[in-house]
Amino acid sequence: MRPSSREEFLRLDAEDPLAPIREQFDLPAQLIYLDGNSLGAMPRQARNQLAEAISQWSNGLISSWNDAGWAEAPTRVGDKIGRLLGAHPSEVVMGDTTSVNLYKALSAALSLQRGPILTDEQNFPTDLYIAGAVAKKYGVELRRVPRNRLGAAIQRGVAVVTATHVDYRTGHMLDMRELTKAAHDVGALFVWDLCHSAGAVPLDLNGAEVDLAVGCTYKFLNGGPGAPAYTFAARRLHGDLDNPIPGWFGHDQPFDFDSGYTPAPDARRFLTGTPAILSMAALEAAIDLWLTIDIALVRSKSVALADLLIQKCQGFGLELASPAEPSMRGSQVSFRHPNAYGLVRALAEVGVVGDHRPPDIARFGLTPLYTRYVDMWDAAEKLSEVLRQRTYLAPRFAARVGVP
Ligand SMILES: *Cc1c(COP(=O)(O)O)cnc(C)c1O
Repeated sequence: MRPSSREEFLRLDAEDPLAPIREQFDLPAQLIYLDGNSLGAMPRQARNQLAEAISQWSNGLISSWNDAGWAEAPTRVGDKIGRLLGAHPSEVVMGDTTSVNLYKALSAALSLQRGPILTDEQNFPTDLYIAGAVAKKYGVELRRVPRNRLGAAIQRGVAVVTATHVDYRTGHMLDMRELTKAAHDVGALFVWDLCHSAGAVPLDLNGAEVDLAVGCTYKFLNGGPGAPAYTFAARRLHGDLDNPIPGWFGHDQPFDFDSGYTPAPDARRFLTGTPAILSMAALEAAIDLWLTIDIALVRSKSVALADLLIQKCQGFGLELASPAEPSMRGSQVSFRHPNAYGLVRALAEVGVVGDHRPPDIARFGLTPLYTRYVDMWDAAEKLSEVLRQRTYLAPRFAARVGVP
């Protein structure tokens, strides 16, 4: 497929089975938003669901914990997300953040078997900090190897391997099935970070025999800023996993107010305290929309969008930082440029929002529920203009803003 005019891109949108879904989102007119991998767009239904949660709060008050299903929200929404992950019911719970959940998951893995933690040097910074803290807390070694050496470093003696499935900088995707098997072959557990995977690529955690996984919901899943994160724990491990922060919501019977801790029999043991109900309401609206969508269509459109953007940016003097091979790529396209920061800022000024990741990455997230084919054409045109005119060198783009 090599469309060569804006009309042809428009025709692809006209034929796209996912095109009507864009109507389910609130998006500023004219904006080309290629940052849904940092903060997903707002599903229109989130506004209604939030209004309803607020009315449950104001009218129902405390009774809403029972009458409005607040108490079950972490497991109800977890089960729904589980369907996107390839999980069984009771294997996924919602709460806290990815960072906190990773702390819990790694600690729980070490509660099964104590020994070195292995991760990759390119892992997301919070993952490295958390893995370092868990290693220190449990008195085990943290081994950090280059991402392309991770497979080779999975050796006997390692207790837990942890990695981010789709790399946040480049979009490089690891082989979940193969690496999980490699870990199991040497007696190690694998804890996956799925922040750039859920809602971006099809997942089958049980098919890949994954042990534990964590991820956020405010990126591709469109759950809203700071939406609760998830923890997946495989059923076969449930009885043996210790939550290092065992609070009352992870107790088997929280409202017995038992003075001793008995963990819930399933993944609910990973909960700690009271769920963030308002955030959960917005998130549930997004997930209910996701459950109407065929992820295979999302994936094929994502691959097509990425291929078109890559093709269309050829000859711009940009170095492709993402794998050219679609099967090794998540749902983003990253380029290296010596002035990537200025480039991203200059593009935002002309209505194309991507983001910058140090040192030299300009990153464009592709979210097929609301990204159109024609956006690839228009974004590439604007990118070429910014590169030609070198507006990225303007002094106003040099100063760093708070959130890049
Ligand atoms: C976005 C992201 C996180 C975020 O962690 P929070 O605790 O939710 O802020 C963690 N890991 C990866 C790989 C991410 O991309």
